[in-house]
Amino acid sequence: MKIAVLAVQGAFIEHEKMLENLGADCIEIRQKKDAEKAFDGLILPGGESTVMGKLLKELDLFQILKSKIKDGIPVLGTCAGLILLAEKLSNDEQVHFGTLPVTVRRNGYGRQLGSFHTDGHMAGIGTIPMTFIRAPYIEIADPRVEILASVDDKIVAVRYQNQLGTSFHPEVTADTRVHEYFLQMVKDERYRTVNQNIENI
Ligand code: GLN
Repeated sequence: MKIAVLAVQGAFIEHEKMLENLGADCIEIRQKKDAEKAFDGLILPGGESTVMGKLLKELDLFQILKSKIKDGIPVLGTCAGLILLAEKLSNDEQVHFGTLPVTVRRNGYGRQLGSFHTDGHMAGIGTIPMTFIRAPYIEIADPRVEILASVDDKIVAVRYQNQLGTSFHPEVTADTRVHEYFLQMVKDERYRTVNQNIENI
């Protein structure tokens, strides 16, 4: 199982360490030829979404990754990664991949004082540590989107088909369960596509 981590800016190394601890192979996506390699899942890390969005275009990564997401590759977007996936931003004109039908508020907890840590419940996992760093939150989720976690009435984790998004940073804690949940999504998708190929023989 090979997981690609977008590594143009932000907190990608933490995700890689987490994946390695869980025994998954990872590759870094820094340029177009990396994105053209075969991989089974994709992680969009935290960082600065405007910078990442700009680099995705400049490095010619945008279309190839957007197509993969639309074609169903399991993707985990954390914090800025969630912003990259969102269909709409309530306080920014920009839209990046726009594949996740939610409206996200950038820096939703305030720009400077918006970093905090709490424990919260995530559906399908249980109570987990949640670290928020100048985090966004989800203001509106389309009814097709499954809400996995809310903190103080603000939505902070969602799943929509192959896309998992969190406002917080699961990669900066010692708790591996969000990544395990994501790896299970990747395994399920591989199982589904293998079976589909067998049916087509
Ligand atoms: N505030 C950042 C943004 O809007 C996200 C912060 C993060 O990823 N920790 O892009």
